Amino acid sequence: MKIICIGRNYSEHAQELGNEIPESPVIFMKPDTAVLKGNDFYIPEFSNDVHYELEVVLKISKGGKYIQKEAAHKHYEEIGLGIDFTARDLQSNLKSKGLPWELAKGFDGSAVVGSFFKKENYDLENLQFSLLKNKDKVQDGNTKDMIFSFEDIIAFVSQYFTLRVGDLIFTGTPKGVGKVEENDVLEAFLEGEKVLDIRIL
Ligand code: ZN
Repeated sequence: MKIICIGRNYSEHAQELGNEIPESPVIFMKPDTAVLKGNDFYIPEFSNDVHYELEVVLKISKGGKYIQKEAAHKHYEEIGLGIDFTARDLQSNLKSKGLPWELAKGFDGSAVVGSFFKKENYDLENLQFSLLKNKDKVQDGNTKDMIFSFEDIIAFVSQYFTLRVGDLIFTGTPKGVGKVEENDVLEAFLEGEKVLDIRIL
């Protein structure tokens, strides 16, 4: 199983990090060992600035390569929410040197994945999702603001990587990313329903 992530897919988030709006999707990956087990996230010792990034996650249900945009909807049946934990200090340092981001993005526990839900039950082009940190709303996103749609992403990614059943795609974060501190509680909501509950340690 692989985890493919899209960067800068919401323009207001790209702007908050000082990045340009991309012309094609920005792609990075996390290893399968990045998936957080349980609900406790331990801040790694190598970072003083770990950020949450709430994202809609697609679960690939049918493999393929060179998937056409028109057929992309046949390759996933379920969606959910996840958190792409990012060691922002490490990422900024690597970015400034033009180096790959993996250390900042792929560490153990950096991919939080909640339950998955049948996509038929949602309007995927107008999907509201939000993150509360210690009961304060810090991110409030809607898939209508994505630069690249789920179908665009699947078509683009599958030109390079064969998609397999069980692969996960993190589809980018809206604005409002920020630092986590010990004892924070993160709660994620999909269309108003709580689907994730994470404790920071
Ligand atoms: Zn992200």
